[in-house]
Amino acid sequence: MGIFTFEDLLNYYPLRYIDRTKIEKIASINPQTDYIQVAGKITEIETLGERKAKRMIATLEDETGVVELTWFQGIQWIQKTLQEGNQYLVYGKTGFFNGRPQIMHPEIELFTSELKNGKSFLEPVYPTTEKLKAKGLNARQLAKLTGALFTLVSSKDIIENIPDEILQKLSLIKRYDALTAIHFPKNQHDFEKALHRLKFEEFFLAQVRMGMIRSKRHRKSKGVLFEKVGELFNSFYKNYLPFELTNAQKRVIKEIRTDTAKPHQMNRLLQGDVGSGKTIVALLVMLIAADNGYQSCMMAPTEILAQQHYNSLKNLLKDMPAGIALLTGSTKQAERKLILQDLKKGNIHILVGTHAVIEEVVQFNNLGLVVIDEQHRFGVAQRAKLWEKAETPPHVLVMTATPIPRTLAMTAYGDLDYSVINELPPGRQPIITVHRFETKRASVMDFVRVEIEKGRQVFFVYPLIEESEKMSYENLMQGYEQVKSFFPEHRYSISMIHGKMPAEQKDINMQRFKSGDTQILVGTTVIEVGIDVPNASVMVIESAEKFGLSQLHQLRGRVGRGSDKSYCILLSPYKLNNEAKERLKIMCATNDGFKIAEKDLEIRGPGEIEGTKQSGMLNFRLASLVNDKDLLDAAKFYSELILNEDEGLLQIKNDGLKTYLLSQKGKTAWSKIS
Ligand code: ADP
Ligand code: MG
Repeated sequence: MGIFTFEDLLNYYPLRYIDRTKIEKIASINPQTDYIQVAGKITEIETLGERKAKRMIATLEDETGVVELTWFQGIQWIQKTLQEGNQYLVYGKTGFFNGRPQIMHPEIELFTSELKNGKSFLEPVYPTTEKLKAKGLNARQLAKLTGALFTLVSSKDIIENIPDEILQKLSLIKRYDALTAIHFPKNQHDFEKALHRLKFEEFFLAQVRMGMIRSKRHRKSKGVLFEKVGELFNSFYKNYLPFELTNAQKRVIKEIRTDTAKPHQMNRLLQGDVGSGKTIVALLVMLIAADNGYQSCMMAPTEILAQQHYNSLKNLLKDMPAGIALLTGSTKQAERKLILQDLKKGNIHILVGTHAVIEEVVQFNNLGLVVIDEQHRFGVAQRAKLWEKAETPPHVLVMTATPIPRTLAMTAYGDLDYSVINELPPGRQPIITVHRFETKRASVMDFVRVEIEKGRQVFFVYPLIEESEKMSYENLMQGYEQVKSFFPEHRYSISMIHGKMPAEQKDINMQRFKSGDTQILVGTTVIEVGIDVPNASVMVIESAEKFGLSQLHQLRGRVGRGSDKSYCILLSPYKLNNEAKERLKIMCATNDGFKIAEKDLEIRGPGEIEGTKQSGMLNFRLASLVNDKDLLDAAKFYSELILNEDEGLLQIKNDGLKTYLLSQKGKTAWSKIS
């Protein structure tokens, strides 16, 4: 159970509590009853069976009925302690045997007058396993161990890890008192105070740790200085910016500008829903870099996306005197050589490319900024490679269209700087999302046909079947045949992409769709995030119930990029479990990626959210990212307050906190993320 030390035991909290004064009537036991506490007289004890089949049954009676208490083990011992005619207090899990209520291996004790007249008190029930129970370490036993431990521990043994000031401001109880009360609460109120304090503590410690990592980086790292906003930025802003920036875009640029005007490395995560306009933000920052004599490099996960970025940046820059180049796996040898030379000389201000290519071969003259698009799982090693290229590490801006709920970002990425574009450019048409059962496929296809007749293009997406690549493939092929049966090839052209396809073939097929050569694209989820096909107006998602919320949202973002009304059709079988129903309902109700991410967190819990699983840092035992947002905000506020004043936790009032953090070093996986 992960308990190795006394401290571990102190930190092993009960699952629930039994009120020892709350006694139920035996007649109230029914098949829905789980655990129950009853009291009564034992009227009969009998032992049945031989050897291994031996069991002991005691009949317990109160004024409302009888229940059988059954033991299979420890019979000899229990026989000695039970006496017919005596009153007992019994607690345990109920069941039915031959229609009669029964409690197997109950907790049982003499119902003394002391117990009868006892004040209300809550007894802890600890989580344990069947295996441990069989070895005698049941919930009761754990309670005894914990109880014994508390007789040995006093308040001075328990480091208080929250500074006094904060305890007072938030009316939190002391750590020692909280630990005592979480194990042995005197009453409900006592328990709640303890819970509140310990939840805050979890968040607070996490925030302090993150804050220290962040401020250490801010303090210690070297970084290139973008001192000024110069000619390139200003003339682009004045003469070439094709639209008014949204307020969110302006705010984010300001945030980045502030960061990069300090001589420390920026490490910033920029989140913005699909279509929120991250590219232009990246461009403006790259122009600032160029104004200060630094090169930028923008990396995309795939060749198509790199190409797309290059084209749109080039379009935006028009005849501006900024050198821009594209470097991918398919760049011709001669051209590659030229690009590499120009880079080294510093003639190229902005290099766009795929991750792999840029990492391997490129020598910059003076790289000042790296923009990584569509990725929120940070390859630490990847970034380290880039830093090696420059004496002073370049600023890093990671952009992602996978919204992360605020609470999760605060905890999982709390050591990074973090910006959000929470506003779409004006005039966007919301994508209309509907849910249809597969039985209505024919009418869905009719609708799709009308769209194609209007000159639009359509995606059909099939789920990846996790257990088997082969099944996914077959599933996709069936889907392909089905689509073909509705859209015969002499009139319609279809391209297909899937994971097994060689990358080149995938690119070719994708490109054909992008250029309008084919009207329909059938594929698995390998259809890239961020792919821009403005003419595509319908996204049909087959077996939509098999996709997670954020994935559905990502897929939906492939349409709605042009001026036409766009649609997302979620197909599913008629029979759905509640969770799937809920997901599809949310998708139909909102286009807001952040709302969807919040829901995703509520439904699945933080452990399952992409990119955070491996971090092991969201294992709050009591606090919840969904239900305790206010506490998290408070924890963030106070951790910042403390660190702003005393970054190294050197002041006496922060001594307890520091000692505690040091004592926990190596126990959590904080270092795994960066
Ligand atoms: P994403 O955040 O998904 O990468 P893009 O940067 O590709 O989004 O922008 C999506 C589209 O919105 C592009 O066509 C871009 O030109 C346009 N756009 C971006 N910002 C604005 C704005 N402030 N006003 C109008 N259109 C904008
Ligand atoms: Mg983008």
